[in-house]
Amino acid sequence: MSIFEIVYWAALVVEMVIRAPLNKKRKEEKISEQRVSQQEKLILFLLLIGMMILPLIYSATSWLDFANYNLPPWAGYLGALIMLSALFVFWRSHADLGLNWSPSLEIRDKHELITRGIYGVIRHPMYASQWLWVLAQPLLLQNWLVGFINLLVFIPFYLLRVQAEEKMMIDRFGEQYKTYMTKTGRVVPKLG
Ligand code: SAH
Repeated sequence: MSIFEIVYWAALVVEMVIRAPLNKKRKEEKISEQRVSQQEKLILFLLLIGMMILPLIYSATSWLDFANYNLPPWAGYLGALIMLSALFVFWRSHADLGLNWSPSLEIRDKHELITRGIYGVIRHPMYASQWLWVLAQPLLLQNWLVGFINLLVFIPFYLLRVQAEEKMMIDRFGEQYKTYMTKTGRVVPKLG
């Protein structure tokens, strides 16, 4: 396994460790609303393939070697740097969102609108972290199939999810969320 593959797998473990305690605690929470479409379930399944299953086949077998490419070492190091920033943003967004986090679109009984910390700068830091991840992936896993599938699946996921999520937040928090939208960017901080 190359050093860049090791970085990829280490990053996946770090994300699991960051998320595990929240995943456990949130099961005790009462949910007042859930919005999950069939379309989204399918895309989430494809994301799992792009993020874990294909990388696993790539690292554990030689079946996908026909699609390998070789980048100069600096590209791999750049990928590691982008991955590190993805992990930082992932960590901060979980720390700030706390039990308001959910894998699908949900509003819990005691839902609080978070506008502090990293959420004071951008509205979707977790998705920003996933953008960084899908950009780092082709630099770390140098294979046409394994490197790019996550990026291809994430684009429709992001477009569908952000639209539905912001609608749900406006339905629940109204003007408060609309004002919050004027002050923050989606995944890139608002200038000025
Ligand atoms: N889009 C956010 C959160 C992803 S988790 C991000 O990228 O960081 C998805 C859940 O987070 C949604 O079901 C919604 O209930 C919740 N959520 C999104 N933005 C929120 C906010 N500012 N405050 C509280 N909950 C939020």
